[in-house]
Amino acid sequence: MAKHEALLPHMQEIADLDAVLGLLSWDEETYAPAGARAGRGLQTATLEGLKHQRLTRPELGDLIEAALADPSVTGTDRVMVERFRRTRSLATRVPEALVKALAEARSLAMAAWGKAKNSDDFKAFGPHLERVVSLTRQRAEALGSPTDELYDALLDEYEPGTTAATLRPVFAELRGALVPIVEAIAGAPRPDTSFLEQRFSSEAQWQFTLRLLEDLGFDMQHGRQDRSAHPFTGSVGQKDVRVTTRIDEENPISAIFSTIHECGHGLYEQGFAPEHHRTPLGVAPSMGIHEGQSRLWENQVGRSRAFWQRYLPMMKTYFPGTLDGVDLDTFYRAVNVVEPSLIRTEADEVTYNLHILLRFELEQALLTGDLQVDDLPGVWRERMQRDLGIQSEGDTEGCLQDIHWAWGAIGYFPTYTLGNLYAAQIMATFEAADPNVWADVAAGRFAPLLAWLREKIHRRGYTAWAGDIMADAVGAPLQVAPLVRYLKGKFGPLYGLSL
Ligand SMILES: [Zn+2]
Repeated sequence: MAKHEALLPHMQEIADLDAVLGLLSWDEETYAPAGARAGRGLQTATLEGLKHQRLTRPELGDLIEAALADPSVTGTDRVMVERFRRTRSLATRVPEALVKALAEARSLAMAAWGKAKNSDDFKAFGPHLERVVSLTRQRAEALGSPTDELYDALLDEYEPGTTAATLRPVFAELRGALVPIVEAIAGAPRPDTSFLEQRFSSEAQWQFTLRLLEDLGFDMQHGRQDRSAHPFTGSVGQKDVRVTTRIDEENPISAIFSTIHECGHGLYEQGFAPEHHRTPLGVAPSMGIHEGQSRLWENQVGRSRAFWQRYLPMMKTYFPGTLDGVDLDTFYRAVNVVEPSLIRTEADEVTYNLHILLRFELEQALLTGDLQVDDLPGVWRERMQRDLGIQSEGDTEGCLQDIHWAWGAIGYFPTYTLGNLYAAQIMATFEAADPNVWADVAAGRFAPLLAWLREKIHRRGYTAWAGDIMADAVGAPLQVAPLVRYLKGKFGPLYGLSL
């Protein structure tokens, strides 16, 4: 027996604990009564503690080292053991006292953030943010950075194998290309969206989103859709993938694109190779590549003219009397409005990345101490003005809008823009490989695209770093040009501009 096989039951145990934790958190976001919150927190902490104990047992470390010393453990088996060692090693690095202090500071900061956001009172949140940033800095020091930048210790958790130094020039190039596009579009007339401002029955929205999931290839035997305040995708192991959507009767676009976005995440989770299930290989290699899947389906596919060629007529049958006089081009323009706005989560395909680039810059400065928490609101406004030409009056729609920093998730934001870059690279590659793609989309045939994604990305799971999987799939390193070409090619004609 090769030495790695002795590790399998341990890997499976950890994967099962993760699956159960996933189910608890899904339940908390969907069906759990409000009164379950405190008890659920305790149950989750117990399971997390158990997982930590199991993972950090010294015998397990010995088994891992023995497997890596065995020359017959090669190929993906070796990678699997290395991934397990990485998970274990990250779990052992942060001292328990720091884990506890951070958990406590986070929960206080999140409560303070909610209040401060509601009352537009950054001053009340500032001290909490300072504490979380300082503890997160200690955590980064404990984790250890793969480079001489502390930020990379945190980025590495979400985007293993990527560093701030690689992202900076890429993001700077992207910013340079986006700002003129935003400015050009700002001078053009805004598309008509008035027909979306009426009542779209929530039951029909629900049925329509289920239809979309089915058409796109989401497997309902191994997944389901529910509702939640903030749409997300959770996994209870690879054979049970949960997506959620949010239905707003006054705005059908919200549920439609939430569903398509989460479906993209769900298709990825359902596409890991069966032989990697319950091992460290049956997971995504990074948040950026995960987001690449969701953005690809949501934006490249779901906001395309070809997609609505098929689904606008169908939508008219789900919502009789609401869209009667609306033609394809009017609808296509309405779901692709570009305008500088204050809120990241509501931003369009063109401005969205500018919101991320601002956060990427500011969170690095917070971590190094180059930016003091007290100065954050002012600097935020300055950068919004510089990149998007607008600024909020208060901080609710400014630096208080996102929960990430209150939660200590510094290093997470860049994965969103990586996702957009990856999605554009994937679609450009697929278009070249399959010239029928848009005819297929217009006919509701998504299987060829899904099959390509399955083969090139999904099945590979965590057998390689995200950057390497992407480079193999698209035949190039991380690039800005495909996204910029896509945006110009789409929004130029859409707004009658030569971009
Ligand atoms: Zn997402």
